Amino acid sequence: MENILVTGGAGFIGSHFVKRLLAAEDVAAVTVLDVLTYAGHIENLGTAFFSDKLRFVQGDIRDTTLVDNVMAAGPTAVVHFAAESHVDRSYDATDAFLSTNVLGTQVLLNAAHRHDIGKFVHVSTDEVYGPLPTGTATEDSPLRPSVPYAAAKAASDLVALSAYQTLGLPVCVTRSSNCYGPYQYPEKVIPLFVTRLLRGVPVTLHDQGQHIRNWLHVEDNCAGVEAVLRGGAPGEVYNLGGGTDLSSKELTGYLLEICGATWDKVTYIPDRPANDCRYSMDWTKARDQLGYQPKRCLAEGLAETAEWYRRNPDRWAPLATGDLRTVLPAARTATTALEARHAK
Ligand code: NAD
Repeated sequence: MENILVTGGAGFIGSHFVKRLLAAEDVAAVTVLDVLTYAGHIENLGTAFFSDKLRFVQGDIRDTTLVDNVMAAGPTAVVHFAAESHVDRSYDATDAFLSTNVLGTQVLLNAAHRHDIGKFVHVSTDEVYGPLPTGTATEDSPLRPSVPYAAAKAASDLVALSAYQTLGLPVCVTRSSNCYGPYQYPEKVIPLFVTRLLRGVPVTLHDQGQHIRNWLHVEDNCAGVEAVLRGGAPGEVYNLGGGTDLSSKELTGYLLEICGATWDKVTYIPDRPANDCRYSMDWTKARDQLGYQPKRCLAEGLAETAEWYRRNPDRWAPLATGDLRTVLPAARTATTALEARHAK
């Protein structure tokens, strides 16, 4: 592999993936394209940001001119993580989710076609299959998304796959379970609960906490995405599941124990509309065809994740205290300074 373009590489999963690529001997260069929304932070890349193999471009995947220039600079493959990713936000900001996740994906696909990109991996989610009270979704199962985030991701999956059909662009789609690990923005349930419990602040569970999710360590997801990048067949979808199924209440029990808190810190609130009861995927295709096999144990992974938040309060405490208006300008200044250094 020569030069890989990673969109959303300053976000949670994208930043782990960039570090993984930079460590691979056969990867000569990585370009990150990220607009740095509230969820994207150059700090997520750590010292990788200063690697000679890394080029960072701050910009929007919907900017056709910029995207064309970035693709013209020679990437041989694209791994597309950039998205609006938080389900709760999608209820009120559906237009932003459709704009970035669907139209932004289309801009990338068109440019990838113009510049003869050899592989385009579109990163998606198990949420596109919608709720499964029983059974598991294979890659051929119908897409029945319930919430705007999942609907926008499902639409982008179909747009990506249509680029394979109509343009012959070598597109693969990955659909993974809920990811957890260090560097996740503290609005998602695990870092939200950990950062609250570490501060002694109560957490809330929807309804009775009965909703079931499959939890996959971010490194296992990245290993799966890399396997698809290297060996996935064009036009194919690969489910990347295989983490641990837990109800929200069971997950909360783990997090309380890890953070040294007790159930009196948990309150129950009415369920949100269309909160899917359960997701479940059959991931034997990725296992049998690409050797994908998640390795991380949930209990260890959660403990290590909580420990990362405990040791890095500077990374999350200002965000978790909620006063984003005062924090973000400072974060942006730091980001600009870093960029200036990187631009040399
Ligand atoms: P994230 O919100 O942490 O990161 C998203 C990144 O995309 C940020 O760095 C943000 O700045 C960037 N971005 C957003 N809009 C952009 C735009 N218009 N132009 C350029 N960059 C933009 O998300 P994540 O959790 O790392 O998820 C990454 C991908 O994986 C998403 O496509 C998501 O749908 C998918 N996914 C996530 C999970 C999960 O549990 N987190 C599970 C399955 C699939």
